[in-house]
Amino acid sequence: MTDFNGLMCTANLIGGQWAGADSGGTIDVGNPATGEVIGTVPNAGAAETERAIAAAAAAFRGWAATDLAQRVRLLHGLHDALMDNHEPLAQLLTAEQGKPLFEARGEIAIGAAYIRWFAEEIRRTKGEIVPAPTGDRRLLVTHHPVGVVAAITPWNFPSSMLARKLGPALAAGCTVVAKPATATPYSGLVWGKLAQDVGFPDGVINIVTGSSRQIGGAIMASQDVRKVTFTGSTEVGKTLIRQSADTVKKVSMELGGNAPFIVFDDADLDAAIEGAMIAKFRNMGQTCVCTNRFYVQAGIHDTFVARLKDAVAALVVGNGAEDGVQQGPMIDEGGVAKVEEMIADATARGGTVVQGGRRHGNGGTFFEPTVITGATADMQFATEEIFGPLAAVFKFDSEQEALAAANSTDYGLAAYAYTRDLARTFRLNQGLDYGLIGINSGLITTVEAPFGGLKESGMGKEGGSQGLEDYLATKYTCVAGL
Ligand code: NAP
Repeated sequence: MTDFNGLMCTANLIGGQWAGADSGGTIDVGNPATGEVIGTVPNAGAAETERAIAAAAAAFRGWAATDLAQRVRLLHGLHDALMDNHEPLAQLLTAEQGKPLFEARGEIAIGAAYIRWFAEEIRRTKGEIVPAPTGDRRLLVTHHPVGVVAAITPWNFPSSMLARKLGPALAAGCTVVAKPATATPYSGLVWGKLAQDVGFPDGVINIVTGSSRQIGGAIMASQDVRKVTFTGSTEVGKTLIRQSADTVKKVSMELGGNAPFIVFDDADLDAAIEGAMIAKFRNMGQTCVCTNRFYVQAGIHDTFVARLKDAVAALVVGNGAEDGVQQGPMIDEGGVAKVEEMIADATARGGTVVQGGRRHGNGGTFFEPTVITGATADMQFATEEIFGPLAAVFKFDSEQEALAAANSTDYGLAAYAYTRDLARTFRLNQGLDYGLIGINSGLITTVEAPFGGLKESGMGKEGGSQGLEDYLATKYTCVAGL
């Protein structure tokens, strides 16, 4: 399946036309499992982005005024188009990103589910008539699409991260300029093809690939772009927040994390190990909600480590396209180098590698899933995002100590805890400074709930009823003289 059933789009979509970069320049897209180039995409810049914004601006009034029933029909059509192409889309995602096929299938399915969720949710977005202080007035509070939305997405979930932005934007009546990550552009570009196939009007969805600085620069400078929704690193997110000031754009930011995973003595150990494997090793440790720091209470520590070590040793590493593979390659050499640096730092400070710890025999960017014990607060991974298959285990004695350690980070995205004590669960709900908290579960993302971080992990929510709010502008209208 070399062109993935015609779903590998190698051009950009601007105003309904597929086109290359003005310069004719292209960027190679590689398969991280094999090192092979699977195709190219346009190396577009500011001029192409400005045209995409102009197309989105021209389409905005018409799309915003389109009957709600029609917008909902098109969104359901988009959901169905995704699911009709589930398998080739999953294969394309694995080919450019590296994650095992079963995870890629899950990502396509949840992306489709986000589209369906927002098609349903927009029908329940109500305004208000507020009681007026005098009888001759009526005070209306109404919601309207915010305008042209720019969506910038990362390589780790190149399909579903765009779904979480396209769904609410299109449902609300906004038009979109999207910029997928350069490492994984095809899972983003294909949204444009499927949207065209099901009948979205020209200009409603535009997708450009290429220089992040030039594309980002044109987006941030534009008066027409009223909202920027970004998923990626905290560093780039901060830059975009600064750049948004000049045109006072709405921004929502899904940024980095440093998730603690706390295992108390009273935990269900089987459940804790199962949750630990999902929360740490999904997508080779390259998710924003991946566990960065395991805190394990002294009474259960040694048993937990022994069980974790066995589970990690049993992971099947290989090309994600092959049956039975649970761990693919990392996205690039930079990611591997960072994990190596963190292992060297931890062992120099007294940590012990009890499993893995080296590049994998497959070569390339494959890395052995790793467990380190004896982790301490002065080690690099205590404060920095690992973004790789490295589990760092800290030991603690009291609940108070675990909570303080868990919160001692600038990030605030996801936190996990395993306990059977109900009162403690509510203390954790109150005490953990995180936007997402999993009690007795290592996998909590779902379309029905608001996903988003606190502190330097971002602002705004994706999913849930809250996921629409950032795409709506609220107007107050006073009707007087009645
Ligand atoms: P990244 O380097 O910040 O890149 C994210 C996106 O921003 C890419 O499309 C990138 O383009 C673009 N970009 C880079 N510099 C830019 C600039 N100056 N102006 C405009 N756009 C720019 O992040 P990443 O390495 O792809 O993704 C990993 C990070 O994303 C991790 O920190 C992870 O925690 C975070 N993440 C957060 C969530 C969440 O929901 N909170 C979800 C997933 C990932 P290029 O690809 O062309 O460089």
